[in-house]
Amino acid sequence: MDLVIRNARLDKTGEPVEVGISGGIITAVSHESLPVAEKEIDAQGAMISPALVEPHFHLENALIWDGALNHSGTLHEAIQVYGAIKKDMSLDDLVRRASIALETTIAYGVQWFRSHIDIDRTAQLNLLRGNIAVREKFKDLIDIQLIAFPQMGMARDPQVIDLMWQAMDNGADVVGGMPHAENDMNDAARHIEIAFEMARKHNADIDMHIDETDNPYWHSLELLADQTIANGWHGRVSAGHCCAMSAWDDAMAERIIAKVAEAKINVITMAPINLMLEGRADSHPKRRGIARVKELMEAGVNVSCGQDDLQNMFYSYGNMDPLEVALITAHAAHLRSPAEIEATFDMPRYHAAQNFRLQNYGIFVGARANLVIIDANSAVDALRRQGDRRYVIRDGRVLTETQTHIHRHYEA
Ligand SMILES: [Zn+2]
Repeated sequence: MDLVIRNARLDKTGEPVEVGISGGIITAVSHESLPVAEKEIDAQGAMISPALVEPHFHLENALIWDGALNHSGTLHEAIQVYGAIKKDMSLDDLVRRASIALETTIAYGVQWFRSHIDIDRTAQLNLLRGNIAVREKFKDLIDIQLIAFPQMGMARDPQVIDLMWQAMDNGADVVGGMPHAENDMNDAARHIEIAFEMARKHNADIDMHIDETDNPYWHSLELLADQTIANGWHGRVSAGHCCAMSAWDDAMAERIIAKVAEAKINVITMAPINLMLEGRADSHPKRRGIARVKELMEAGVNVSCGQDDLQNMFYSYGNMDPLEVALITAHAAHLRSPAEIEATFDMPRYHAAQNFRLQNYGIFVGARANLVIIDANSAVDALRRQGDRRYVIRDGRVLTETQTHIHRHYEA
């Protein structure tokens, strides 16, 4: 074997385990001692987990930060501010900022990553070129999927439809969307139809920003579910944000959530961003603006969580650590019982892996050896302390090591 990891504990059961890796694949998961390998890691009782998954991010505008840029703090103003900046964005600067974000997230254990790329009259295909350069630069370090994202709408601008087709022909992996950027629900339906035309032509998955508003008028999630079912795209569609469902009445939410479950749509909540951007105009009581995480999970919907933004006009914070995002999600969605904690810890792991339709994800013989060893002894410990990612491993190769040493000077 190329690598043996000893003295680890399994992420799901906490059982002590040794893991052997050959040719980038897990070839042994054993309670017994494995033979000596070329390289050995002593996990010192830490947890071994499949590497983390970031299902929703925007590399191109990460770390464009001036605290005064967005006066109102709303999504609307953030999009306007960004529109003025992206016109003159240098691709070298895009690559520089994106590289910082990716290097940080890799050290936190992320090995699968999705980035949305603005495709519109202002951006044309320039930001796609920058993102492709980033994907190429990092291809040996992390798997990146690029999503063509028509943030300014498609039904309202035929030129964007043309640019979206070009993006899918020139390196984008996934068809994105933002139906609530259209004028009304009729145009939102057209927006989603166009996206499915592109997905069928390219045999591509779909990953849209859905109803990122606290206006209950918007329910494009229902249109997305209807068309997912009609197109037989079950399990191949992701819906990010879904904020408006926090403003729907219960009957409407129940009806639409049942369709989302039938369509096997993956919902991604961006709790940190939604808590910050939604409900700003409310007096008290203020809406939280995040997806109905508990109701979705109870209906059997796959729910994960995403970072979305890193210190920019949309969001002033962010750390690129999916465990931090999961912990914020737990607070926003009232997730506290042992079963809910397990589900929350699975969000940036097994749940988000379903968005990528990964078949070889986990700790089992035959799985891809993309792993993270976390200084944690349980799900609640991993979320609560967000401990060191002691080793991040890609295809059996150690990418990063992190170990915090606390010097207790008060000891003799
Ligand atoms: Zn987003």
